[in-house]
Amino acid sequence: MKKIGVLTSGGDAPGMNAAIRAVVRTAIYNGMEVAGIYRGYQGLLEGDIEALTVASVGDIIHRGGTMLRTARCLEFKTEEGFQKGLTMLKMFKIDGLVVIGGDGSFNGAKKLAEAGFPTIGVPGTIDNDLPYTDFTLGFDTALTTVVNAIGNIRDTSSSHGRINIIEVMGRNCGDIALYGGLAGGAEAAIIPEVPMDINDICSTILRGKRRGKLHSILLLAEGVGKPYELAESITKITGAEVRVSVIGHLQRGGTPTPNDRILGSRFGAYAVELLRDGKEGRAVGVKGNALIDLDISEALAMKKTLNQEVYDLAQILAI
Ligand code: ATP
Repeated sequence: MKKIGVLTSGGDAPGMNAAIRAVVRTAIYNGMEVAGIYRGYQGLLEGDIEALTVASVGDIIHRGGTMLRTARCLEFKTEEGFQKGLTMLKMFKIDGLVVIGGDGSFNGAKKLAEAGFPTIGVPGTIDNDLPYTDFTLGFDTALTTVVNAIGNIRDTSSSHGRINIIEVMGRNCGDIALYGGLAGGAEAAIIPEVPMDINDICSTILRGKRRGKLHSILLLAEGVGKPYELAESITKITGAEVRVSVIGHLQRGGTPTPNDRILGSRFGAYAVELLRDGKEGRAVGVKGNALIDLDISEALAMKKTLNQEVYDLAQILAI
């Protein structure tokens, strides 16, 4: 393999830059060239591609976002667009590709691999919604942002004796709410994996109030429902004032944590080593701090399950 392409696709995630840097430097270390493909599959179709050197990826490890930028590209999902992508890869003499992104991006990578183009997927998404890996790139940084936000809201919440609903990201996967809630000492994490029981939530709030608690913090994953409607329902039952904070895109940016920088570096280097060793159609991940790779179709077919132990612990600690 002479030349490796690298792109970031879908939602950006802190740590993507560390992964790009590792792809570029590991490839060069192994005697290969690297083509940086800008704006995901969109840039591939447009030929927005340039050679990356050791220096091109200097001074990026500490930056959020992605130096290659990212995009969502509907055209690549069509047969015509996909064939155009393959032609572009040939035109630019790219022999293998590292795709850094979430499950949508992995579907594109899977199609490339099925068409015989050596492709490796690196999980880059803050949602932690890829089931085959313990962690995705960006999750730790997003969690840090959420925990810091909980700290700030907790201060003002205690002063006023209020209940706060904090909406965090996670459409189908409640990991940011669950782990953020545990780390931030929230009263409840309302997540898509567990049916919401409003009476249960209100009893926790009222129990806390009776023992003199000054605030209640509820973490709500965005996929569950509308935070303002939930706030109204809680006020009706408890009579307490409820405020809503939607953290939104603040969670997607920010300087990556050391864990995400390290994970990104390990993922990026491993992806290149797999291509170097003739492996293709693999998804890179981490299990118990060991790097793993498995067939990308298998990885996509897996179903994410709730970490029941963590969920139960969060419930117990919120008594
Ligand atoms: P996030 O988890 O942050 O949303 P993602 O990678 O899941 O990231 P998507 O918008 O779902 O984000 O996918 C990114 C891009 O991957 C799409 O815009 C499209 O270009 C490509 N893609 C998604 N699904 C397919 C598919 N079935 N075939 C080919 N390409 C696809």
